[in-house]
Amino acid sequence: MTGEAVDWIVIGGGITGVALAWELQKRGLAVLLLERHAPLVGASRYSYGGIAYWAGQTPLLQALGEASRKQYQALAEEFGGAIEFREIDLLLTLAPEDDPGAIAARFRDCAVVPELLSQEDACALEPLLHREAIAGALRVPHGHVRLEALTAALTSAFQALGGRVVLGEAQGFLWEGDRCRGVRTATTELWADQVVVCAGGFSRDLLRQGGVQVPLYFSHAEVLEAPPVPVKLQTMVMPAVTRRFQMEALAGAAECDRLWQEPDQEVIAPVLDVGAIQFLDGSLRIGQISRALSSASAQVSPAASEATLRSGIGRVMPFLKDVPAQWHHCLVAFSRDGLPLIGEVPQRPGLQVFSGFSNPLAMVPSLAEQFARFVTGDEETVIPQMSPGRFLVR
Ligand SMILES: Cc1cc2nc3c(=O)[nH]c(=O)nc-3n(C[C@H](O)[C@H](O)[C@H](O)COP(=O)(O)OP(=O)(O)OC[C@H]3O[C@@H](n4cnc5c(N)ncnc54)[C@H](O)[C@@H]3O)c2cc1C
Repeated sequence: MTGEAVDWIVIGGGITGVALAWELQKRGLAVLLLERHAPLVGASRYSYGGIAYWAGQTPLLQALGEASRKQYQALAEEFGGAIEFREIDLLLTLAPEDDPGAIAARFRDCAVVPELLSQEDACALEPLLHREAIAGALRVPHGHVRLEALTAALTSAFQALGGRVVLGEAQGFLWEGDRCRGVRTATTELWADQVVVCAGGFSRDLLRQGGVQVPLYFSHAEVLEAPPVPVKLQTMVMPAVTRRFQMEALAGAAECDRLWQEPDQEVIAPVLDVGAIQFLDGSLRIGQISRALSSASAQVSPAASEATLRSGIGRVMPFLKDVPAQWHHCLVAFSRDGLPLIGEVPQRPGLQVFSGFSNPLAMVPSLAEQFARFVTGDEETVIPQMSPGRFLVR
């Protein structure tokens, strides 16, 4: 054994890992957070940072959204302006071929129902939009945070409570029979009572290395990042029909599992969701291409993707087409049914998962808190509903 065993090892220092590590440490547990990159290069680094706490269409998701909304307000008080938490208008653009009424109807069960705007009203709210490129838009108040700043603030808060951050890569698990006892890195063995996988898009491969098969998947996301520009976006812009979510639903279906098992497969054709968000310093993220490729290490062509992203944003927001910007790539996790996988892996005591979040910001703070309460003995009704045991495992 190398070093003393801790109560929990959290693998992954993106938003899911740090939110959970902080909550576990707050509950009095000794927690070690293992992250392989500094600075971060995962989805929490390149995210738009939108918090869709209005979007829940079921009582469960609406309750999570409302709980998280309150938690973000508390986080903003705790961390101040550093995390850039604010409320912003989200404009969900309708393509010229869309039927505005039919698309709007898809949102009628949301906790806050977006308002349908005409072309004129959408362009009055966001003058950078190209009138001919949209049939109108849906407008809704949206939460927004600078996710990499929130992740950093939570990491510091975790450390301030005595939590330990180790820079290293989990290369496998330590077992005593079927019981997980810790994590192996290139240089050491880390022992713990519980290990939780929060590795975002890499959770699938990490668990498979441990012989665990759960319906967790990932998409390759591509985005452009621009330094501060001399114009101001008034809103966050996204398409009303998010093709990424449609792609995830198709690629996560059981029929596609055979393709996911093989290397270098394109499970579903790539999709483009034209959108943009401007941060308080004037910098921008413009996106996004999503690809369901079965290999986490699959190569994509930055030049071709950049051209696709520029052409897409050029149609909807022509001014942004030629802004100086840099292409980036990361993985985003998703699950078969759109809900995360949270809890102990069946037949693998000591191995937990907190992953499969695709668009998680409206639920991560609340679920991290509830999971920490659950594993320290409180009664929780939500966490058991997210158990990986709801799928066939191993
Ligand atoms: C362009 C874009 C826009 C988005 N916009 C939104 C949005 O507006 N709203 C929203 O809710 N969501 C959005 N998302 C999704 C959201 O950002 C991600 O789902 C979220 O950040 C994922 O967090 P995570 O902690 O699961 O993963 P990550 O942030 O990827 O973190 C996982 C971490 O695990 C580490 N890791 C992996 N394997 C190992 C290992 N073996 N050992 C040690 N460490 C390891 C990685 O280095 C990484 O830091 C967006 C995503 C993208 C790409």
